[in-house]
Amino acid sequence: MPKALLKAAKVVKVEQRKGLSSILRSRNLKHHVVVNGKKCAYSERNYTTSCKTMGSHGIRLISGKFRQLLERQDKESGNYRIAAFDLDDTIVQTKTGSRFSRSSTDWKFKYPSLQDRLSDFSATEDNSTIPIVAIFTNQGGVTNKEGAKSLSNLIDRLNRILEALPSSLPIVFYGATKKAKNDTFQVSDDVVHSWFRKPNVGMFEQLIRDLEIDKAKIDYKESFYCGDAAGRKGDFSDSDLQFAKNIEFKFFTPEEYFE
Ligand SMILES: [Mg+2]
Repeated sequence: MPKALLKAAKVVKVEQRKGLSSILRSRNLKHHVVVNGKKCAYSERNYTTSCKTMGSHGIRLISGKFRQLLERQDKESGNYRIAAFDLDDTIVQTKTGSRFSRSSTDWKFKYPSLQDRLSDFSATEDNSTIPIVAIFTNQGGVTNKEGAKSLSNLIDRLNRILEALPSSLPIVFYGATKKAKNDTFQVSDDVVHSWFRKPNVGMFEQLIRDLEIDKAKIDYKESFYCGDAAGRKGDFSDSDLQFAKNIEFKFFTPEEYFE
């Protein structure tokens, strides 16, 4: 069994014996990222088996199929094509019509064609190109702290979205979150927060780190990023368009890709 899995198995055993806060601390591992030449440490913890929080700056939630990719031994064989999307007003919209979702159930898929489009992308006939569906979402209203309601709401919402999508999708969600006041336990440096938030490239870089691949392994011709913040008249910003430029991906608006 790979070391990481052994560790996970141990954690599950610990979970049965200890209270919640001690479990979270037992899972607390030191990680770091170098941003603008500055080495910044942060802690990770497993929120659920499929969801991990990264310091106070981010979360990652993965499907079973994506987990298989992370665990594959032959990471260097084959190239990757990445269909990347924003979440809100791109993949989903609120049921209530409010700008931000009010609960974990306040969402619906924005386009009827969505499941088919994602399935078509990930159904590969060419084994040398490995498909990935990545969702990069700024969640500046979500406080990334143990016990925070906004965090549990977001993770619950992402799990529900994941369950409503075909289980064959190799899908990963990255969310850029905010730190709580007076939280010293898992807090990330401000430069890491800024790096992780679109239009900056942190969430994309984290995907590359998680896959343990070199960017040369990405098939840029077949990869793209799709989001609604395109700087058009009425758009609240152009952060999706700028993000696509920064990661050197082709850009589509949701209308262009799904309609
Ligand atoms: Mg959006």
